Amino acid sequence: MSTEPSTGPEGGPAGMGRRQLLRHTAWFGAAVVLTVTGGEVISHVGGPPAAAATEDSHALRFVQISDSHLGFTGPANTDVTGSFSRAINQVNTLGFRPDFVMHTGDLTHLSTPAQFDQVSQMLRGLRTDKVFTVPGEHDSVDDHGQKYRAAFGAGTHGDGWYSFDIKGVHVIALVNTLALEKLGHLGTEQLDFVHNDVASLPSDTPIVVFSHIPLFAMYPAWGWGTDDATRALSYLRRFSSVTCLNGHVHQLFTKTEGNVTFYSATTTAYPLPRPGVGPGPIPVTLPAGRLGAALGIRDVSYQVGQQALAIKDRRLT
Ligand SMILES: [Zn+2]
Ligand SMILES: [Zn+2]
Repeated sequence: MSTEPSTGPEGGPAGMGRRQLLRHTAWFGAAVVLTVTGGEVISHVGGPPAAAATEDSHALRFVQISDSHLGFTGPANTDVTGSFSRAINQVNTLGFRPDFVMHTGDLTHLSTPAQFDQVSQMLRGLRTDKVFTVPGEHDSVDDHGQKYRAAFGAGTHGDGWYSFDIKGVHVIALVNTLALEKLGHLGTEQLDFVHNDVASLPSDTPIVVFSHIPLFAMYPAWGWGTDDATRALSYLRRFSSVTCLNGHVHQLFTKTEGNVTFYSATTTAYPLPRPGVGPGPIPVTLPAGRLGAALGIRDVSYQVGQQALAIKDRRLT
């Protein structure tokens, strides 16, 4: 594949061209505050009150869903298809139409053709302009991601990475699940892609990075980290705001390091233990009636003219 940047899957997201790169705003890194209200975890960036929205302000709103594991059968969730359907329905009834939906991997449990068919078909039920994905390690169990890329890799580079611009935000989608030993791994070709991809961007461009495995060391003993992520993040150091959104760990977790804030997402399938609790990252079977509270979807918004990227994690309803 070529190294031409800013192309999304399927030849590029419609209407997400450079003409939309309106940067009328300063973007400040600041402390992230987490609040819990009625089952929703809301994080917001602290700082001075936001400027009044102008005519040029186009709110970007997108949804992240993750770790659907279609094909999983086990007591931790005996109906992952049903849970994923509910997640899709919840996205479709948020009261706004997301600019895009990103699935951050482990779409399937065992990478079978039937599981890829099922997840592709179900994702088509999302009411959004564009559905993006990054692969999880469960999406490449026997073929180094060939079936994944056949389903979702159109227009991507290398093993399936890509980037695009939308409403003033630069989005980078990475693949760190294919060369994993213990930790996630990006590799030289992909690191070079990131380096070149952001080279011409002004430093006040908000950057959102998606990956399956966390780009921060959430719990390396269980493989919850990426061994060469610091190099990727070094290319993003000059940017005022970098937000990294990942899956894989099946639970909410937030961490800020300098200009970068990391948010692990929960799952639509089954929970995993807290880092280091128990022998390993083995599916947790919750008491009857408690599963829904551990599953969820995330919506993220960014308003040009405002300083806050708002992340709202919603329990599956
Ligand atoms: Zn998973
Ligand atoms: Zn995973």
